[in-house]
Amino acid sequence: MTHPELTRADLRCLAEALAEARRGLAEGGIPIGSVLAVGGRILGRGHNRRVQEGNPILHGEMAALQDAGRQPARAYRRATLYTTLSPCDMCTGAILLYRIPRVVIAERRTFRGPEALLRRRGVQVVVADLPEAVALLREFVAAHPGLWCEDIGETAAARRKGRRARATVATRRRPVRS
Ligand SMILES: [Zn+2]
Repeated sequence: MTHPELTRADLRCLAEALAEARRGLAEGGIPIGSVLAVGGRILGRGHNRRVQEGNPILHGEMAALQDAGRQPARAYRRATLYTTLSPCDMCTGAILLYRIPRVVIAERRTFRGPEALLRRRGVQVVVADLPEAVALLREFVAAHPGLWCEDIGETAAARRKGRRARATVATRRRPVRS
């Protein structure tokens, strides 16, 4: 896999985020993982624990931030957040709150959060588009559609509509990368 904006450290951290997603799946949870790193050094890592802990705010990104613990502002401002899925509104808020300047996303085909908002606020967003990340989550969503809707705050009916809308967009537009 090659991507002009991804360094070797990025690929390593993405692989760790994917390992977290698989760990979540093995625990019976939603397979989304994340890593917070500075210059390739991992400060925190985690995976979605909605099911395992009955906790609606423990998305993968939030779990990685929690695992990193209290960090000084200067650490966040040099950090990259790696995530296996495009960040939702809640996780986008956390990225903006701590002024994390760079986000590397493994995939955004299954779900696309407000990446435009991140970019508008000066965050560099890199989409790796890893097929293994797409496959991992899609298999889970197909097997547990209700759980997936719950995690992204959607009713099943809205999700079915949204999926059709997104599928239409995907066939008409090339994926935008930056
Ligand atoms: Zn989230």
